[in-house]
Amino acid sequence: MSTFDINTITRDNVKSLKPYSSARDEFEDFDTAEMIFLDANENPYQNGVNRYPDPQQNSVKAILAKNNLVKQSQILLGNGSDEVLDLLFRAFCEPNKDNIISLPPTYGMYGVLANINAVENREVLLSTDFQPQVEKILEVVDENTKIIFLCSPNNPTGNSFSDESVVKLLQNFKGLVVIDEAYIDFSDKESWLTEIDEYPNLVITQTLSKAYGLAGIRLGVCYASEEVISILNKIKPPYNVNELTQQRAKER
Ligand SMILES: *Cc1c(COP(=O)(O)O)cnc(C)c1O
Repeated sequence: MSTFDINTITRDNVKSLKPYSSARDEFEDFDTAEMIFLDANENPYQNGVNRYPDPQQNSVKAILAKNNLVKQSQILLGNGSDEVLDLLFRAFCEPNKDNIISLPPTYGMYGVLANINAVENREVLLSTDFQPQVEKILEVVDENTKIIFLCSPNNPTGNSFSDESVVKLLQNFKGLVVIDEAYIDFSDKESWLTEIDEYPNLVITQTLSKAYGLAGIRLGVCYASEEVISILNKIKPPYNVNELTQQRAKER
């Protein structure tokens, strides 16, 4: 069984950086809903969107936490799950040094994000029945492999990956195993969400874009251990999920 250590996989600059602090962060202990932050130059004339949005999107996360039986501190929201995937690269993959593994044919964004972030994308084809070739994947892993992307149910093949192969990867890989569950609501199989307390290296991404028909609002969700989520929180843009999106997400 591999031992996962967040410190060995996090980029040094991310470990040492001091996150941006917004005017709102200084009033954590207050109910800020009725306040206007003149020190952030918020306009005092109410029109529904004159205030900066909640950077932690707490009211959206409260619903997701309740529905999915996880803690709010195990959730990060993004401008679509594509932003969540990009944040994972930026937090954990050192440009021109680290690598990730993806399993074609699969969602093209993993490779694109690898290119954007100057991270090598090691491709290990799915088997002829579209399952991960676990032994081959583990052979391709080296000390600079930070993330394995599993899309399950997979785009474009439509099938889910076997529990056995997912568990083997979670147990034997010391980096992050990201399970992209953009299509989980269309599947008979359960989400891997029930396992996040079990595996500290498990990251799950979901989206409101497909089954919920809300691609236009751009809301992606990341579930992981508190330690992974707190690293992502350090680097995310403070207001990455806008007020209209938060409101619309709560109406669904
Ligand atoms: C559509 C899709 C996404 C992106 O979803 P957004 O939340 O709209 O960014 C992620 N992964 C897969 C597999 C997809 O098909």
